[in-house]
Amino acid sequence: MTTNSPASHAARIIDGKALSESVRGSLRTRIAAAGRRVRLDALLVGDDRAAGIYAMNQAKTCEEVGIEYVLHRLPAGASYDDVAGRVLLLNAEDDVRALMVHLPLPAGVDTERVQSLISPEKDVEGVNPANIGNVVYGRRSLVPCTALASLEMIESTGIELRGKRCVVVGASNIVGKPIAVLLMRADATVHSTNKFTPDLPALARECDVLVAACGVPRLVKADWIKPGAVVIDVGINRIDGPEGKKITVGDVDFDAVRGVAGWISPVPGGVGPMTVAMLLRNVVDAALR
Ligand code: NAD
Repeated sequence: MTTNSPASHAARIIDGKALSESVRGSLRTRIAAAGRRVRLDALLVGDDRAAGIYAMNQAKTCEEVGIEYVLHRLPAGASYDDVAGRVLLLNAEDDVRALMVHLPLPAGVDTERVQSLISPEKDVEGVNPANIGNVVYGRRSLVPCTALASLEMIESTGIELRGKRCVVVGASNIVGKPIAVLLMRADATVHSTNKFTPDLPALARECDVLVAACGVPRLVKADWIKPGAVVIDVGINRIDGPEGKKITVGDVDFDAVRGVAGWISPVPGGVGPMTVAMLLRNVVDAALR
């Protein structure tokens, strides 16, 4: 059968794991060729278990590509002034070229205020609003890692974004909006949508690229998809699976959408691992700048 009906067609998979491996390989080469030490400094405040595990994994991931990892800690009782003071100290140190602050911060410490203190040229997560501004203006800057990951994955398909219609489902400051801006910078025509957008499925069906970043499990269905479109699933949702076990699913109904799309990124194994690779790339960019 050669028809492209949903039953017989299956989109090609955009393999985030494989892409991230290739990024890591090129980072190892860049670090070795630069002959300079590359280091990530991270600040962890308090004793949140998940943040602690994340930091430990991050240390391992950095080591694998030849990045030193220095974890600075403050106790759970730290005030805004304590956290802000430490960020400003780290900003001032010449040896600190790549800096991030682990979340969550303790209750009462304003996360956005802290993030806006990180020097824009050291802000490897791209969370300082100054860096979002730089993205809008197309200036050299550190771009939020999930947005970078989404763009890299779209580009890996070989699609020419100029002149294409794209829809971004979700418009948060750190995910949806930066993705929309990156697509605009590539000269695509971009629809930034949110939970108030009327008749989103009909709008989405007109688009060559769909990026789902709304945090609603399997929201995007097969009838939202233009045949052959590129579909990037940013969502990470933990839901009840078979036999009472928790499973991780994206914002796209993968099995159904795969029958219509041309390309699709899976969850897990898609944007997640690429986001980690983009953070490492930002670290190397910041350190070697
Ligand atoms: P958020 O809650 O801050 O923002 C959600 C956005 O989606 C809002 O703009 C909201 O209006 C929109 N939205 C909600 N319901 C909608 C609907 N029914 N139709 C259309 N739009 C709708 O979430 P976030 O922080 O941007 O995260 C979005 C998803 O991305 C989550 O699943 C999160 O876990 C995931 N995420 C993944 C990575 C990664 O590395 N892969 C990183 C960050 C976030």
